[in-house]
Amino acid sequence: MDGTKRVVLITGCGKGGIGYEYCKAFASHGCYVFASDLPDRLHDLADLASENVEPLELDVSSDESVAAAVSEVLASRGRIDVLVNNAGVGSTGPLAELNLDEIRRAWEVNALGQVRLVQAVAPRMAARRAGRIVNVGSVVGAVATPWAGSYCATKAAVDAMSDALRVELRPFGVHVIKVVPGAVRSGLGRANAERLAARSWRLYEGFEDAIAGRAGASQVGRATEPGVLARHVARRVLSPRPPRAIVFGHMTGLFAALAWSPLWL
Ligand code: ADP
Repeated sequence: MDGTKRVVLITGCGKGGIGYEYCKAFASHGCYVFASDLPDRLHDLADLASENVEPLELDVSSDESVAAAVSEVLASRGRIDVLVNNAGVGSTGPLAELNLDEIRRAWEVNALGQVRLVQAVAPRMAARRAGRIVNVGSVVGAVATPWAGSYCATKAAVDAMSDALRVELRPFGVHVIKVVPGAVRSGLGRANAERLAARSWRLYEGFEDAIAGRAGASQVGRATEPGVLARHVARRVLSPRPPRAIVFGHMTGLFAALAWSPLWL
């Protein structure tokens, strides 16, 4: 075992998503990466396995699974230098019609999943006076997006929690970095677009094709490649002075608010 490599734990690393690319990007910087995902997605982490990447079973919505995975990493490498809270699920459709169980699931994974990992990992980082925690949010946490209100709310929670955590953990030498991606050509973006394109919602049917296209497929067409985002994030997170936020990609920030909101009114 090489004790000098930085140990990185990443959640939600299934193929086709941004997490998969985070694994490659952190490994390319010489880190030792634990690439985790749900038990039934472990098979698509197999390609990633290498001298520097180890697949790991981790369901962020389960207290037991988080405790077991973190114990396994600590038993094997002794510490976690970087935690990347990336796992997420989509929740698409008009809030007035969306199933409450689906909304609960989004909170359980996207928001509480990050809290579970932070609670398992941050005290150990604080005790060592070192560590970086990366919480992946989304530009839609700040820009209200119709038919994604449920998902947006969970990402707004990630944003608020990351800001609070940053201040809470700073005195202990732990950096908290929030990542705010715009539209990314990856799993969730595609799933949302397909779901919107299927137009199974009563409230959605009345809208014009042009608006439907902007909300779904065309947004994905112009989206950022996940590998580009992941390489940018890994480089900045591992830099000697990591930023407090990384805002990156298509539709981010003020541009999104100005360019898109008139369409919804
Ligand atoms: P993105 O566009 O954000 O990359 P994906 O759907 O491709 O979206 O990736 C999200 C990842 O999070 C998937 O690999 C998925 O299996 C994973 N994931 C979803 N729910 C959980 C969970 N409860 N625990 C761990 N990983 C999860």
